Formats: sequence, structure tokens, C-alpha cells
Amino acid sequence: MEVRADSEMIVLDAGSGIRPLGVALDNEFGTQPIKLSLLITHAHWDHIQGLPFFKPAYNRKNEIRILGFDGAGAGFKEIMAEPMRAPFFPIAMRELSGKIDISRLSEMTFSLGKVQVRAIFVNHPGVCAGYRLFTSAGSIAFLPDHEPYEFFLHSARGNKISPEQAKKTAADGHEALVQFLHGSDILILDAQYTDEEYQRHIGWGHAPVSSAVALALDAEVHKLLLFHHDPGHDDQMVD
Ligand SMILES: [Zn+2]
Ligand SMILES: [Zn+2]
Repeated sequence: MEVRADSEMIVLDAGSGIRPLGVALDNEFGTQPIKLSLLITHAHWDHIQGLPFFKPAYNRKNEIRILGFDGAGAGFKEIMAEPMRAPFFPIAMRELSGKIDISRLSEMTFSLGKVQVRAIFVNHPGVCAGYRLFTSAGSIAFLPDHEPYEFFLHSARGNKISPEQAKKTAADGHEALVQFLHGSDILILDAQYTDEEYQRHIGWGHAPVSSAVALALDAEVHKLLLFHHDPGHDDQMVD
């Protein structure tokens, strides 16, 4: 996902789609330098595996700043180096000729040039952030991976907490998320499953369509984009 606003170019996550994006940017900019920020939500493969195939990273004229939070049991720099580690890939991250700066986020509010960014941790296995970008043209929230709190609480997994405590934590998490998203102009949200499919995937970290719509209505967002469709869904199915 690419956002251009207030002279900033911000790319959200580095899944397989970042490869065609890299080709398009390369064609558009030609010999001009590309300067962009890449914001990573979390370490799952479908969000980082495209980075080794991002053409602008291989040209010394380009500057790429990669930002994200530490994962569960792994630092952010380790996470980003992983897809390019031997024996999985022939070129190491440090051998990329573009200017690559990897920054570990520690604050939930920060700015990328004139764009203010807020982060929130969502309900997904491991550490997973959602971001909201505040631009002069409006705000856009990006939550590609999130399971509704009311059905499964990932932070309770492996922890001994009472059902009452879990219920309260889930309700607080939902409320905090509604506040975080409130009034967003655009919300890009996990809607991986149909409601029927979700019944077989509770605890997998993703949302059924009806919950995604309900969250968007609760948060009074202006436009909802259903995202992170199941790989088994073709265009016809999504329509
Ligand atoms: Zn994930
Ligand atoms: Zn994902």
C-alpha cells in the first residue's frame, strides 16, 4: 500500500505487492532519487517477504527508511534482515546499494515529515501494529491483520487469566481501537474471511467481513476498504 501526501511517500508493509510497486516507482522516477518511508506492521511473512524484490533498494540514489516495532522474541532489525538471510536469499541486507536505514519504533506517536502517525497494537498473534496517518488531505488507517476482540483474545493465549478478566481486556481493547480509528477518512481493514469461513478459523488472527463492517460503523469511519482477502478468494468471490 502506497500513500503520497504532504511531500512524503509512505509505503505500508512489504508483502508480494511491493515488487510491482518497486518496478512502477523505478519507471516513474528514472534517474531521480526515490525517498520513501516503509512502515511495517509486523513480522509475518506476508508483510515482509517482498522486500528482497523491491527494485529501488538496489540503487544507490535511493533512500529507504524502514520503521517498525520489535516482534515477540526478535528485534526489528533482525526481523527485517531475515528474508535476506542465507541460505534463503543470495544477497544480504547490508549488500543492498540503496541507502537503507532501519529504525525500531518505540513511541506510539511519531511523524514522517509533515505526516503525523499514530500506532496501536491490535489483536493478532505476536506483536502487530496498526497505523493511522494524519495528512493535510485527511487521515488513513491501516490495520491489515486484526481479529475481533470479542471472539478470541490473543494476549490471553498461554496466560492464566480468568474469563471475567479476559472479557474486560477484550472490551477495553475494542474500545481503545474504536477511539483510535474514530472519524478516519479511510480505513483499510482485515476482512479475510466470510462469516461462515471464520467459524473454522477462530484464533487465526483475522476477521470476518461482518465484524470489519461493524468496527468501521462503530468508529464512524468515512470509507472502509476490505483488505487482506483470503488467498483462496478470487476477484469474483471478493465482488
Ligand atoms: Zn499476520
Ligand atoms: Zn497478514
